[in-house]
Amino acid sequence: MNLIKLLKYSNPLFNKMIAKYFARETGYPKSFSKAYYAVLNHLMNCYKARQPVILTHHPSPVEIINSFNAISFIADSFSAMLAGNKMDEELIRSAERIGAPRGACSFQKSIIGLQALGLLPRISALTFLSTNQCDSPKKVFEHLSSDVPGFFIDAPYSMNGAGINYMTSQLNEFIKFLEMITGRGFNKKGLNSEIDKTNACIKSLYSLINTRKHDLIPVKPLTMYRAYFSVIGYQGSPGLIKEFLDEFTMTIKKRQEEGMGENKSRLALLQLPPFYPSKVFNVLEENDCAVVWDELPLMDYELSGHGVRGLAKKYLSSIYNKPLDERIKIIIKNVKEFRVDGVIYFSQTGCRQSNASVSAIKNALINEGIPMLILDIDCLDKESAQQGQIVTRLESFMEMLK
Ligand code: SF4
Repeated sequence: MNLIKLLKYSNPLFNKMIAKYFARETGYPKSFSKAYYAVLNHLMNCYKARQPVILTHHPSPVEIINSFNAISFIADSFSAMLAGNKMDEELIRSAERIGAPRGACSFQKSIIGLQALGLLPRISALTFLSTNQCDSPKKVFEHLSSDVPGFFIDAPYSMNGAGINYMTSQLNEFIKFLEMITGRGFNKKGLNSEIDKTNACIKSLYSLINTRKHDLIPVKPLTMYRAYFSVIGYQGSPGLIKEFLDEFTMTIKKRQEEGMGENKSRLALLQLPPFYPSKVFNVLEENDCAVVWDELPLMDYELSGHGVRGLAKKYLSSIYNKPLDERIKIIIKNVKEFRVDGVIYFSQTGCRQSNASVSAIKNALINEGIPMLILDIDCLDKESAQQGQIVTRLESFMEMLK
């Protein structure tokens, strides 16, 4: 678990060196090293535990946590980062050794593995916001909360007045919970300032996403994906992440003006592709495909109004909180706007939310004349996938799109 040891014993100077090295390797604009430095510092601070550490999961009201000067350890983002560094398998196998089923969600098994191996940071409290399509994290958090106090936020199904009132009252209770955990009073101005910072970052993200409406896409699919997931999961320093998103957007626009980025097919990706090194992105690149739309950034990247009620509306409007019909409408709308030729759906092992919606989404796309390839995959657990079969199916799909 080299990365965790690194985080435990590192310091800001060391993180700066790593971030610079990584930025050079990836070829991103200069500000990527600042954004990655912010991510490493955020994680390092979780392990140093100088501030109260709140274990949480996407989507969660990090704006409230930040306003208490507490720090959020976002478990699923961390699992994805570990998988990118080939470290998740050890955690997943550890969780299975103590009884987690083979077919259960790997994000949750990674968290159980971190706890089993004593590799979680020292947690002051945990919180989880339910989505209406997944209760796996709730079960894991119940298991973990035997040791630390926990607060469960139960998102209602409807975004009507009653739903928003119910969500607002729970976020107010969550604020009281954090007052107790941190010993600090709630600062409304501080919350609004956190909301402003996150909103500014989200607007920049949408500018980056919109560069892909252009005919020319001068960014390789993996480059775009790495950029999203290296920095977006961590909302600890949105200011620094924003700078990178803006610079990356400008770089892409400049390349487009210079006529770079012709591609044969335009793809949308639904759900999560593998975070570990796999041949998926190689096949897309070899076939000159551009990925022009992904569903995942919509999970918790809605803009928020000020105050607790503003946040309640934001978290209720997450794509995974809505009825499936609404999610399908959003997918169809974007597939049209971004002029998508074909869709790849990564159906995640052990994920009801991912598996149960496949047929309905595929049928809706077929009605619009858009083909969809379903790949059964576990985006964290390399052992679960038959790479050869995935490559063959991807190549046939690419051939069909030409
Ligand atoms: S939505 Fe799926 S992948 Fe995400 S936590 Fe739930 S079961 Fe796991």
